[in-house]
Amino acid sequence: MTTEGTRPDPLGFLANEIEELKRQNLYRPMRVLSSPQAAEVVVDGKELISLSSNDYLGLATHPKLKEAAIAATRDFGTGSGAVRTIAGNMTIHERLEIELAEFKHVEAVLTFQSGFTANSGVIPVVAGEKDLIVSDALNHASIIDGMRMSKAPRVVFPHKDVAALRELLREAREKGRVDAGGAPYRLILVVTDGVFSMDGDIAPLPGIVAAAEEFGAAVMIDDAHASGVLGRNGRGTVDHFGLHGRVHIQVGTMSKAMGVLGGYVAGSQALRDMLIQRARPFLFSTSHPPAVAAACVAAIHVLRDEPELIDKLWANTVYFKGELRRLGFDTGASETPITPVMMGDSAMAQRFSGRLFEEGVFAQAVVYPTVALDKARIRTIVTARHSTEQLDRCLAAFGKAGRELGLIAG
Ligand code: PMP
Repeated sequence: MTTEGTRPDPLGFLANEIEELKRQNLYRPMRVLSSPQAAEVVVDGKELISLSSNDYLGLATHPKLKEAAIAATRDFGTGSGAVRTIAGNMTIHERLEIELAEFKHVEAVLTFQSGFTANSGVIPVVAGEKDLIVSDALNHASIIDGMRMSKAPRVVFPHKDVAALRELLREAREKGRVDAGGAPYRLILVVTDGVFSMDGDIAPLPGIVAAAEEFGAAVMIDDAHASGVLGRNGRGTVDHFGLHGRVHIQVGTMSKAMGVLGGYVAGSQALRDMLIQRARPFLFSTSHPPAVAAACVAAIHVLRDEPELIDKLWANTVYFKGELRRLGFDTGASETPITPVMMGDSAMAQRFSGRLFEEGVFAQAVVYPTVALDKARIRTIVTARHSTEQLDRCLAAFGKAGRELGLIAG
């Protein structure tokens, strides 16, 4: 493109880069959903069974959440009008945090616009130049961005390797800060995802906590994919492992199993108070609309009152994962409803996803840079709302595409 006749477009390189991505099968077009998020959806005009949403419990269309959102809109309008420290702090925001703190068994909670902004907001507030961050190699992009925005140096430990983590912590405690003649770190913060979003495996939290306690470090867990999925009533990884009081910062999301939108940081009162003073997404971006906060409160009530949804989610997970493996697919290290079906090559993953689409199944390929170049996969998530009949139709499509493309025997 040129602007005003002959002047060259300074952004002209973007079109070339897009062509290159397409050539490498790394370009991802967006599909368009014209139905509610549900087990069966309409995507690009076609009816499909979805294995692609993070709406684990089907709360995105739960009548109690919808009613709460409608009532809040009727009573309080559509927008909060400001950041919370200026004029956008409504009773519904405060109520949500009180209920979340009670639910998570912590002193205090602060909500953010998303899980992403919760992670990227909290890390630079707690960790600065006198501190050290120790991070799992497969942590989520929002943790990585949070670390980038922090002045703290960081070291990465191999994925889930508690022995390597212990060694790093020992060394950090023995040697101290290289930039300050070995002065001790003020804080060593160990950060990990609770459930890893691309592989569906669970962090070895008991080992991480024990290592951190041995060397006086703090632990932060990002429970985006554990919120509403693991622990009693979906309270998360800390509850799942019985580690209440021993993890200092818990980040959760309300955008996935809670069916709405938002993130939160759960921990001490001092942590909440300091985040209000310093966390940039909190200070510089408008708070949730009343409808969002009210629907999140309703979601906590559903988690508390309808635990059978979580039981159904896990029953579907065990069934679907087991059948995929029986068909001969490699489902990687998955232990949760996130079940990757490993393809290796991005061209194969894209082709496979296309064949599933033709067979009536919506399951997206995940390719580089979301995962390593040779670890392309189809990422599936079953929900509490899928019937066995729907899962069987998905399995038949996987079997057919897998045999056709030579991924499984048959
Ligand atoms: N952390 C992890 C591990 C995630 O998978 C995600 C969402 N992909 C987030 C944080 C961000 O959550 P949200 O969608 O609420 O911004």
